Amino acid sequence: MLQVHSIETFGTHEGPGIRLVVFVQGCNFRCLYCHNPDTRPVKDAKGITSEEILELLEKQKPYFKEKGGLTISGGEALLQRKALIDLFTKAKKAGFHTTLDTNGSILDGDAKKLLEVTDLVLLDVKHIDPVWHMKVTNASNETVLQFAKYLEEAGKPIWLRYVLVPGYTDQTEFLEKWGQHFSTYKNVERVEILPFHTYGFFKYKELGIDNPLLDCPVPTQEKVQQALNIFKKYFKSVYIR
Ligand code: SF4
Repeated sequence: MLQVHSIETFGTHEGPGIRLVVFVQGCNFRCLYCHNPDTRPVKDAKGITSEEILELLEKQKPYFKEKGGLTISGGEALLQRKALIDLFTKAKKAGFHTTLDTNGSILDGDAKKLLEVTDLVLLDVKHIDPVWHMKVTNASNETVLQFAKYLEEAGKPIWLRYVLVPGYTDQTEFLEKWGQHFSTYKNVERVEILPFHTYGFFKYKELGIDNPLLDCPVPTQEKVQQALNIFKKYFKSVYIR
């Protein structure tokens, strides 16, 4: 049984084509810029079985065409990896493309089993520098980088994602390092830059929790372009989302 926060039936941002996107409840990071703070508490949410999700997939099948499928996002999907092994195994058996949107923070036996039934990984590497990663997410990037390496060695396709936040993740030196680090990875199909935005701010108010980036500006066009130019030196396909 998967603890689910919400479901988007016609998602177009979380992987290729049109997708059923399931946002799971619970996250082990505390990113300063999180735009889904309501998905973070690890608690009982709406429980959904693999069979119920398969039914939704079957209903949407005509819209998927050759590219679409199922994406699990969050929260952090790996926290529910056991349930996801069951779901992805069944979804693949039924012919659906499976995508895992993750912060890459867990790499144990079950995470590896889940990756065996995952077609594509959307991997957020939130900072290349360990000290800044800790500042931005309140968590280490050690396992994240190991997770990325594991995917590279397994030849598993990935889309790398990077949230660009003024003053936190837009340092030229670290953007270069980030690009250099992954430049030799043959499994990177694309890189996506996600400029920081304020759309989720109302949720902090609703939840009555402190919003640490309340006064943070969104990145200027120039800064976004600068990040794009840096990543383009290292990767063929770079997009701004
Ligand atoms: S990993 Fe995602 S859901 Fe978790 S705190 Fe960071 S932005 Fe929010």
